[in-house]
Amino acid sequence: MPDRSFLNWPFFEDRHRELAEHLDAWCAKNLPVDHHDVDAACLELVAKLGRDGWLKPTALDTDNPAPLDVRALCITRETLARHDGLADFAFAMQGLGTGALSLFGTSEQQQWLSKTRDGKAISAFALSEPRSGSDVANMEMTATRDGDSYVLTGEKTWISNGGIADLYVVFARTGEAPGAKGLSAFLVSGNAEGLGIAERLEVIAPHPLARLSFDQVRVPTSALIGRPGDGFRIAMSVLDVFRSTVGAAALGFARRALDESIKRVAERKLFGAPMAELQMVQGHIADMALDVDAAALLVYRAAWTKDMGAARVTREAAMAKLFATDKAQEVIDKAVQLHGGDGVRKGHIVESLYREIRALRIYEGASDVQKVVIARQVMGAA
Ligand SMILES: Cc1cc2nc3c(=O)[nH]c(=O)nc-3n(C[C@H](O)[C@H](O)[C@H](O)COP(=O)(O)OP(=O)(O)OC[C@H]3O[C@@H](n4cnc5c(N)ncnc54)[C@H](O)[C@@H]3O)c2cc1C
Repeated sequence: MPDRSFLNWPFFEDRHRELAEHLDAWCAKNLPVDHHDVDAACLELVAKLGRDGWLKPTALDTDNPAPLDVRALCITRETLARHDGLADFAFAMQGLGTGALSLFGTSEQQQWLSKTRDGKAISAFALSEPRSGSDVANMEMTATRDGDSYVLTGEKTWISNGGIADLYVVFARTGEAPGAKGLSAFLVSGNAEGLGIAERLEVIAPHPLARLSFDQVRVPTSALIGRPGDGFRIAMSVLDVFRSTVGAAALGFARRALDESIKRVAERKLFGAPMAELQMVQGHIADMALDVDAAALLVYRAAWTKDMGAARVTREAAMAKLFATDKAQEVIDKAVQLHGGDGVRKGHIVESLYREIRALRIYEGASDVQKVVIARQVMGAA
């Protein structure tokens, strides 16, 4: 039985505990899905999650507007990740892809949200470019005003849901000022003329990913999200909400690795006794449990702080993401070690966790970038 004692921490309300319990039961019945065709698997996951109401926390409810519940986002990601990394991905992208619309969209733009929350439309977040990943301010894609339109030209890469998304939030240079102050955000339909898939990208833990080409994609001025020049601020505000949820997904992977390891060392006999009796094995299990609890404290501290009304949680979210993803990597590595040869066997759960965790230390700000963010925050506050 997985450790659920963290749900009694004071960060949570009853609705969060109910969410964790009901979603866990749903996952046990519905996950994992077949991953052989990742596009089909994601379409199926978004439809199922939407049908059964699990996508509701990902975006603003326009009939009943309230701030996004970051604790619900984190609990959902943690729970889905514990059962199926692709289910977590499908859920997370519905939030990241629409975050700019929930936070800054016009009522016309927000009409998409009822569809994404019901699993009837798939969203994507298009920030990174071949020469601008960590260095967002170096973005080259342009959006040029032409009458009552903007014309988008350039490339985006590493775009999750690229190729299967119905809507993209796309960041481009509009040139109000040099660097980060000259970027804007746009809502672009997946079937816009001139939007193409330049390349599908394959990674160690398969997800739908693509490099996209924008060949004079024309959008009306009503597709602008926020004001011209607001793009960087919008992107950072969205990441401020969703960054701690990456930590939550890592936590889900780490908890699964710990649970699998506890089972394994109880069952597997070495030198005439269960592995669990070897003190060095107990040392590994203790380190794993400690890292899981410390990561959970940081993740849910960030989520709770945001939910309590903090305008920004830059420091808390960066700490949560950095610690939870780096420590999950270590926890999973220990799980592989404790499983011996089975740990590296293709198709074994800890082998897939080993592949799943790696990208989380790179996207939405690599671990090194989080360190820079934390240092700036704490030195700035001193
Ligand atoms: C699986 C996956 C999914 C993704 N999904 C999306 C998506 O949906 N939308 C999107 O826009 N992007 C997405 N990305 C892109 C992701 O955000 C970028 O890969 C990331 O920002 C790093 O950019 P880069 O790959 O260009 O690496 P680079 O910017 O070249 O950085 C390489 C490395 O340099 C180091 N580094 C960077 N900055 C610093 C610094 N200041 N100090 C010290 N070291 C530093 C880090 O270790 C970093 O990993 C995704 C990436 C992956 C792998």
